[in-house]
Amino acid sequence: MSRIAYVNGRYLPMRNATVHVEDRGYQFGDGVYEVCEVRGGRLIDERRHLDRLKRSLAELRIRPPMSPAALGVVLREVIARNRIGYGIVYLQITRGVARRDHGFPAPEVRPSVVVTARPLNSARNEALAAAGIAVVSVPDNRWGRVDIKTIGLLPNVLARQAAIEQGARDAWFVDKDGTVTEGASSNAWIVTQASTIVTRPADHGILSGITRTVVLEAIKAQGLAVEERAFTLEEAYAAREAFVTAASQIVLPVVRIDGRLIGDGKPGPVATALRREFHRYAESGCA
Ligand code: PMP
Repeated sequence: MSRIAYVNGRYLPMRNATVHVEDRGYQFGDGVYEVCEVRGGRLIDERRHLDRLKRSLAELRIRPPMSPAALGVVLREVIARNRIGYGIVYLQITRGVARRDHGFPAPEVRPSVVVTARPLNSARNEALAAAGIAVVSVPDNRWGRVDIKTIGLLPNVLARQAAIEQGARDAWFVDKDGTVTEGASSNAWIVTQASTIVTRPADHGILSGITRTVVLEAIKAQGLAVEERAFTLEEAYAAREAFVTAASQIVLPVVRIDGRLIGDGKPGPVATALRREFHRYAESGCA
């Protein structure tokens, strides 16, 4: 079955799903995106993702091209047309097509909207979670507004590639103070020797992950000790557990950071339980 993408009002086979060469996303990275998990054919946490999208668009002063309800219809249609049971749906909105010039197009142009979806391999992801992943640290050389979910991901791309070349799965960004900000495409967490769960506050230094928000709710509902504060790389090396969160992988235990074993080098009970319980706290839409 050929994959189907939504491009500016049309559902097209992937090979015909193209945007203009002067799209500002292509030329300037001038756009925003969202990635949502699909489970049992249903969108997970649609409302929260579309709220964050609205905020990202507002921060970049891109006019929302359609209502959240209409976007939801498109997301579900792409999921259905690609027969996704378990997978992810990707939504990208750019400022649109205009002759190349850094300033915003005047008059305003219609934003470009693209939606794609792909299945994920559940068995492979469960095996990954059961084994835990290795991460490496890299300097955080990104701009000061990584709280906006923009498609300008070059530092994240280079960080992930550095991780792959060192035999790791993800990279953790470390700021100039030696504290961990977040993963290349995930939020970073540790569990201290005193069993406190720690993650950086959602300020301008990280993306406020939807999975992070839901995991914090799960933690609070279960009465576990949690602190939203910056933690150093040294603290992470000495942690009892570490893990990352992202919509595409939920909660993934980290068992190695920069080649050092975390805890006993196996996925810890806190990360494992949060992964298992996650969907009790997430919102699942209608099929
Ligand atoms: N930080 C970054 C840099 C990311 O790219 C992502 C994934 N999109 C996350 C955090 C996690 O966000 P979410 O839980 O909303 O997927």
